[in-house]
Amino acid sequence: MSKIKASTALVNTLKNWDINHVYGIPGDSIDTIVDALRAEQEAIQFIHVRHEEVATLAASSYSKLTGKIGVALSIGGPGAIHMLNGMYDAKMDNVPMLVLAGQVPTSVANTKYFQEVDLPTLFADVAVFNKQIESAETLPDIVDEAIRTAYEKKGVAVLTIPNNIPLTEIKNTVKPKREVYEQIKPEIATETIARAAELINSAKNPIILAGVGTKHAKETLVQFSEHTKTPVIISLPAKGVMPDTHPNFLGNLGKIGTKPAYEAMQEADLLLMIGNDYPYTDYLPQHDVTCIQIDIDPSKIGHRFPATVGIVGDAKEALTALIETTDYIAKREFLEASQENMANWWKWLREDQAKTGTPIAPEAVMASIQKIAEKDAIFSIDVGTSTVWSTRYLQLDHQNDFLISAWLGTMGCALPGAIAAKYAFPNRQVIALAGDGGFSMVMQDFVTAVHYKLPMIIVVLNNKELSFIKYEQQSAGELNYAIDLPDINYADFAESCGGLGFRVEKFEDLEIAFEAARTAKRPIIIDVVVDSNAAPLPGKIVMDEALGYTKFEIRSVLEDHRFSKMPPLKTIIRRFF
Ligand code: FAD
Repeated sequence: MSKIKASTALVNTLKNWDINHVYGIPGDSIDTIVDALRAEQEAIQFIHVRHEEVATLAASSYSKLTGKIGVALSIGGPGAIHMLNGMYDAKMDNVPMLVLAGQVPTSVANTKYFQEVDLPTLFADVAVFNKQIESAETLPDIVDEAIRTAYEKKGVAVLTIPNNIPLTEIKNTVKPKREVYEQIKPEIATETIARAAELINSAKNPIILAGVGTKHAKETLVQFSEHTKTPVIISLPAKGVMPDTHPNFLGNLGKIGTKPAYEAMQEADLLLMIGNDYPYTDYLPQHDVTCIQIDIDPSKIGHRFPATVGIVGDAKEALTALIETTDYIAKREFLEASQENMANWWKWLREDQAKTGTPIAPEAVMASIQKIAEKDAIFSIDVGTSTVWSTRYLQLDHQNDFLISAWLGTMGCALPGAIAAKYAFPNRQVIALAGDGGFSMVMQDFVTAVHYKLPMIIVVLNNKELSFIKYEQQSAGELNYAIDLPDINYADFAESCGGLGFRVEKFEDLEIAFEAARTAKRPIIIDVVVDSNAAPLPGKIVMDEALGYTKFEIRSVLEDHRFSKMPPLKTIIRRFF
């Protein structure tokens, strides 16, 4: 039998799984693998990023968008440590990722050698598969097992590879091509469907909370809602599963959510939790309600809220079965009341978006984005106030995608997400939205987008502060501290990287910048100087928050000897009562 280098066998295994690109940074302890990737660059593109954190955040985002495994690599030691953040993002948002980490050669292993870090220990908490390679012969099989495990357990598989091992010649055993991984769906018990249908038929005020587990079931969700006249609320990362303009849609639930969603939840007599593991239980009904939960993972049934009936299975299959077994409802008062409530909510939001003054209102920027967004645009959103403005004001349809670091909530995720989106869907428009805090954490990788010719629109909401933290401090009754950010001209930065840049300081200039972005062939940053007093208030202000703002104002006077700029009273009153 012919022989090949173990590194070539590794790359062949990646090709077998249809992996066509890898994010990373080369370097000594991973260079034997990088060399094998060089030889196969037509099949697997190496995306050379500027920070390893961006490599794993991009790999995680690619996986969220496509369902396919994202791959990142780095040297051991510092590079491996940098990768941790994106690895946790994949772990917590339950998506498959493969990480290849270099390691010092076996001849010097365990000698406290240069850059030698105990990587299996470092990765023990984040990985679902975590092996240090001991022999060249086993490398291809272990890579294969790593990928299978990452898909099956929806998590991160890590291989730590001493740099000498990939150079060893091994037998060239060609494996059959792997089929794209398909999750096995549990068979849904017909008696649970029958029991759930009874509960739905007898409910007066049913409500749906739909999550990430309905992303593949968008049409069926709409059909079920229309068939039973049930209002739909979604979790934040599920944005887009229900068109924002659908009359049965009440938006998100939680601090970022809408007031109608909060109120409908508290009026409901039946809660249908579909494909979500919604964490903020204070926003779920606080009274006795019947609950039907649908989840593919049996361990999630009753995890956050007591389930009267648990349907273990795929959301699309369960909803299809429920459409067939439940009564058609022609009219439901609860839905109509919720719709009326929602019409008011949209009226308030439209008022916010109509602001034409300077400093520019972030809500107005959302209107500008909406104007140029294409039907199937992918939105990559950062963590911070950009999360609030985008979730609340952007109107998505079924063809859009919405990317975010939902569970880890890491700042700096928007740009890596946009890079990944261009590799996942090169022909779709990609719009990233970040605050200056989040963007400046990863801004070096704007040059990656320029270098690889990935046209994308990056909107930086520049308020020269960590605004989300500012309002967190205020609503907790704390005085603001350590939230200021020195100003950076991100448009100049974009130009210096070879991209396009627009700095917008006056409302009148918004349209020019966004019109330029619409047709730009290069990555573009629109650096919008926004009103730092635009408060990302919760949709429904609860008593604790109202008391927190009051305490903050009193402390400002007594300890700082000044009146602070509070969020507008009119908005607070609207959202409190
Ligand atoms: P997951 O936790 O990923 O749950 C998905 C569920 O679907 C899992 O139980 C899974 O087993 C199941 N599933 C998967 N596939 C299927 C299938 N085929 N069929 C059936 N079930 C399936 N979130 C909010 O909702 N409101 C907020 O106000 C909010 N504020 C946030 C603010 C910030 C700054 C950030 C960063 C995040 C915020 N989040 C908010 C996100 C929040 O932290 C959680 O990540 C989110 O609520 C979880 O959504 P989920 O339950 O749909 O997703």
